[in-house]
Amino acid sequence: MIGIVAVSHSARLGEAALELALQMVQGGGARVRVAAGAGSDAEGTPILGTDAVAVAAAIDELATDCDGVLVLMDLGSAVLSAELALELRVSEVPVRLAPAPFVEGLLAAVVSAAAGGSLEVVTQEASAALGAKTGQLGEASVDISAEDGPQNRPDAVVRVVAVKNPLGIHARPAALIAEASGGTDVRLRLLPDGPGASAASLSRMLMLGARQGDEVELSAAGPHAESAVERVATLFDDGFGEGTDTEPATAMIPAPRPDTRRKASTASVPPVPSGSVLRGRGVSAGVGAAPAVLLAAPLQEPDAHDIVPEARRQNAVSAIERATVAVADHLRARSSAADGEARDILDASRLLASDPELLSEASALVRVEGRTAARAVWEAAVAHEQGLVALGGRMAERAADIRDVRDRIIAEILEVDLPGIPEHDRPFVLVASDLSPADTAALGGSRCVALVTEQGGPTSHTAIIARSLGIPAVVGVPGATGIPAGVDVLVDGSRGTVEIDPGDSRVAAARSASNDIPFAGAGVLADGRRIALLANVGGASDAAASAAAGAEGVGLFRTEFCFLDRVEAPSIDEQVEAYRGVLAAFPGRRVVVRTLDAGSDKPLPFANDDSEQNPALGVRGLRIARRSPELLDDQLRALSIAAEAESAVVEVMAPMVATVDEALDFAERARAAGLATVGVMIETPSAALLASEMLEVVDFVSIGTNDLAQYALAADRMLGELGDLNDPWQPAVLRLIGAAGAAGRTWDLPVGVCGEAAADPTLAPVLIGLGVTSLSMSPRALGRVAAALGGVSEAQCLAAAEAVLRSATAAEARAVASEILGL
Ligand code: PEP
Ligand code: MG
Repeated sequence: MIGIVAVSHSARLGEAALELALQMVQGGGARVRVAAGAGSDAEGTPILGTDAVAVAAAIDELATDCDGVLVLMDLGSAVLSAELALELRVSEVPVRLAPAPFVEGLLAAVVSAAAGGSLEVVTQEASAALGAKTGQLGEASVDISAEDGPQNRPDAVVRVVAVKNPLGIHARPAALIAEASGGTDVRLRLLPDGPGASAASLSRMLMLGARQGDEVELSAAGPHAESAVERVATLFDDGFGEGTDTEPATAMIPAPRPDTRRKASTASVPPVPSGSVLRGRGVSAGVGAAPAVLLAAPLQEPDAHDIVPEARRQNAVSAIERATVAVADHLRARSSAADGEARDILDASRLLASDPELLSEASALVRVEGRTAARAVWEAAVAHEQGLVALGGRMAERAADIRDVRDRIIAEILEVDLPGIPEHDRPFVLVASDLSPADTAALGGSRCVALVTEQGGPTSHTAIIARSLGIPAVVGVPGATGIPAGVDVLVDGSRGTVEIDPGDSRVAAARSASNDIPFAGAGVLADGRRIALLANVGGASDAAASAAAGAEGVGLFRTEFCFLDRVEAPSIDEQVEAYRGVLAAFPGRRVVVRTLDAGSDKPLPFANDDSEQNPALGVRGLRIARRSPELLDDQLRALSIAAEAESAVVEVMAPMVATVDEALDFAERARAAGLATVGVMIETPSAALLASEMLEVVDFVSIGTNDLAQYALAADRMLGELGDLNDPWQPAVLRLIGAAGAAGRTWDLPVGVCGEAAADPTLAPVLIGLGVTSLSMSPRALGRVAAALGGVSEAQCLAAAEAVLRSATAAEARAVASEILGL
């Protein structure tokens, strides 16, 4: 037996059509459910509309004793609700949606189902149901051709109007046109050569498919032609009362306020002409060429004060339904092209997009409170998100997924680009004002071949992540967001250039010049002294790539990169899993794990307080343990468990240490957790000057030249404009490194460098001369640094170090070092 669901905007229409249909089979032999209307208002008056949740429930009910279900719909959003219901239903019987006329189709389907027709047969019967009527009346009588319309009569009144409302001619405008024509035979024709329709025919008008921006010819003849055409034209002109905005999908959705959106597009930036070359700081080597894509602005919270008039609320609900269907479809298409974990994640997001509760809550907010479609989705999602966060643990992690799906639905409703990293199937160069660390990390799974930003310095985390992902990047490029979307761009991350529309031969030449130098797996000076060359990693996949690139071990594992999008602190088990992933890539090798360096430009919601005035000087890095000692102790515990389980030689170090007391406290906690080799980072001038005292309480130090330069020069490392100050060649920074190196020599203990300075092939030998014993960098830099070290002796390194310590400027230091080293 085949069940039938009749979906209608009107409960009365649904019931009446059912009554009519059941009379055909004397009420027996057919299983039919009506899913109609959208509840009732406070006075008990039925609300016209459709409800996908009710449609899904009707399908599920029939599915318990039917072999298949056919769904018939009246018009407009009924179709959307039916489509969405396919996502929401939990039953598995086959379901078909028939493009059949509602009343005739229902009659034919009921008769066919009662006669035992298969789903196929019942569907065909329903779909062919209009045939009888059209045959009876003759197709020509309803097909309005250009020839037989009144426009060709000598007394014809003809007027061309534009469709101005955002949704075009849907059911409501069509009904208004029919009413306004007031019995006069007004004809509509979609220009330039589209179909025609009589204003008396709702369905014909819908079939015009007239959208915003289309032109329609109105014509009528006879005594009242003039006034009838005028009335209809007025309706078009005022957008059928739905507004005439061109941006959002529905008139009641407010346009995004330009002043509250992040500057991410070309709004105020002059377009960059073809053939020009922009310059910035090359922060991740390599060449990438592809069409430019501009990072979409983040969505702003939709205004809660915009109220949708009652008459337009159903349209807003339809906009939500349409958007959720579109988002679910999009995610389904992506998940079928993905595999493994990515597929599971996309499937989970798809289910969230069609979550019946989210949808019905958002719809209720529109119907009852008059919220705009976008605002209603926002509020419904916030409620879900808070519910999940309150559950804590892994459930709280889904909160980020809800926000993602929320943004997708709202972007669809507002017809704006989805914020964040674009989902393109073809390679692209991403152009942005700036990127968050989480955005940059998401580039890993995308087709982004290069990155260009207006902001950001050489040691910003955007730069660091781009390097670790091996994506060529140029930051601090003034005017970059004026690069027109879609134009070919050639990014040279070594030279710091961005060429607009360069031509194929330029791209080929740049690519061949940028090839990486392979790394043989060991750092050795020309006279044979071994210098460990290690990798900086942010997680297991980085570690695997670094091991494959020949890194001798890990000199800096930035553990905070594993948890950038976390709202709640990761559990010990989760941490153990994340750390083991990295340790496993380096069996028997040295892996230096840094405890969470949350704060400043990479805040973690569970660790940082976002109200600080000056986060770079605030509670970041090790200082978090002042407020939340359990965070540090849990991490040390997790690391100790991971170290037990793997054979890597684990060392642990703390970021942002300023005093010897901090170093001592950290060392005691780490040792109490079972970690034997403990160090601290030298990132503050204070730590550099106290390096010797630090080495009395810890086993090694590692110099973070990125922060050391930021704090020594008092220059925000995120500001491209201050890139010249955030330069490890600055003599003050070199002297602080020298102080730490000297302390290491005094105690004969290791002094590493894990800041970006280690990846500079000319600076690397200088660092060795200053007393540094190992260098840790992005794996792509290993070959170049090894080649530079292999060409110089220890004596040259010492001489270069002495010379830079006497230099007064960064330029002078670079010049003398190059000369002595021959690099
Ligand atoms: C540094 O400051 O040099 C460093 C290695 O740490 P991060 O870049 O992660 O702050
Ligand atoms: Mg640092």
